[in-house]
Amino acid sequence: MTGRDGLTPTWWALVALVALGIVLTVAAITLVPWRVPSPTRAERAAALADVPAGVVTRGRALHAALRPSSYGSLLVGLVVPLLLGLTPAGARIVVWVGLPFGGHWLAQALVGGLVIMMMLWLVALPFSAWRHSVLRDYGLSTQDWGGWAADLFKGCAVGAVIGAVVLGGFYTLTQLVPDWWWAFGAVGAAVVVVLLSFVFPVLVEPVFNTFTPMPAGPLRDELRMMAARDGIPVRDVLVADASRRTTGLNAYVSGLGRTRRIVVYDTLLREAPPGEVRSVVAHELGHTRDRDAELAALVGAIVAAAAVVALYLLGQWGALLRRAGVNSIGSPTAMGLVLAAVAVAGLVSGPAQNLVSRRVEARADRHALRLTGDSAEFAAMQLRLAEVNITDVHPPRIEYLLFATHPDTVDRLAAARGPSRSR
Ligand SMILES: [Zn+2]
Repeated sequence: MTGRDGLTPTWWALVALVALGIVLTVAAITLVPWRVPSPTRAERAAALADVPAGVVTRGRALHAALRPSSYGSLLVGLVVPLLLGLTPAGARIVVWVGLPFGGHWLAQALVGGLVIMMMLWLVALPFSAWRHSVLRDYGLSTQDWGGWAADLFKGCAVGAVIGAVVLGGFYTLTQLVPDWWWAFGAVGAAVVVVLLSFVFPVLVEPVFNTFTPMPAGPLRDELRMMAARDGIPVRDVLVADASRRTTGLNAYVSGLGRTRRIVVYDTLLREAPPGEVRSVVAHELGHTRDRDAELAALVGAIVAAAAVVALYLLGQWGALLRRAGVNSIGSPTAMGLVLAAVAVAGLVSGPAQNLVSRRVEARADRHALRLTGDSAEFAAMQLRLAEVNITDVHPPRIEYLLFATHPDTVDRLAAARGPSRSR
């Protein structure tokens, strides 16, 4: 047993991390819809035969063209943080930008954070430009370079504001309570995740899109009635002017309780017949009904809290701190090291997050099929999505496991066909 002298902040942090790990495991086992059936190989083969050859080839070609920029941005997103964190480079930059402010920690945190964010953004920039040019070549992006740059700038501004709040808050804590910041930080991180999940979308949506009420008519009535039948009353059905930047088709349900609304892309209304719009909205209602956003926020909050505690424990590793040229992980000069840890953790946990996401999406598909009772419309919509969004309907296994947040088109078509007759 550990004596009273053993009850150090580090010991408590270990206890907290184990407890959060247990909660996360229980949440993952009980709340993720693992039991939604996956199609068999025969069902997938039958579904693939339904996809026109041209759609398969074009999706494959686009994804081959995007691959270098995807892997490139993944690589620089990992290598640059590692260079900043596992060498004294990150610490030197933060110290240097803090000099005009007398080396005050708050200046180091805010200005240093801004400079490092700009660096990460700049190294990723060529890859996003490359990606945009491929999407334009394929007609998937309708945005000219001016609009693209404007979006990029808006994204940067939003990121800088959030970054300043997070960095300012985090380093205020590490300065005020050097031994216990992890406890307050864990609670704070969980709160920030919940806020970002529910408040942020409502605040940020209007920065990027304009929303107008869907004109009165049979489709709007049908969507509202379907939502009501599903036990999810909505206040509004809105149309987003997504065609400003994309030809992609989508819809979503946002807001909570009385502010809940269905948002449909104008591209979807233009491209798809009403029955298919209904099937997309029914999928989104499935997310709302099964509280998938709440599940994501809960899991995200636990993970964020655990990450803060783990970061504190990582800071007990002397050799790592020496490598980064810092005294404490709680110092703004260790920002590069923190970023490196976040980048590695993100890379490692990404496939697990995507696995959970695919299960949740498969459940929403099943919900859509039940709610509309129309598997033909659902399958037609999946084919249209694959064609218009130029989807790789059956991506390479390894990329599917690493990156796919949704079941692939072939899986979704197989779900619509139901169990094959041979069984
Ligand atoms: Zn979905």
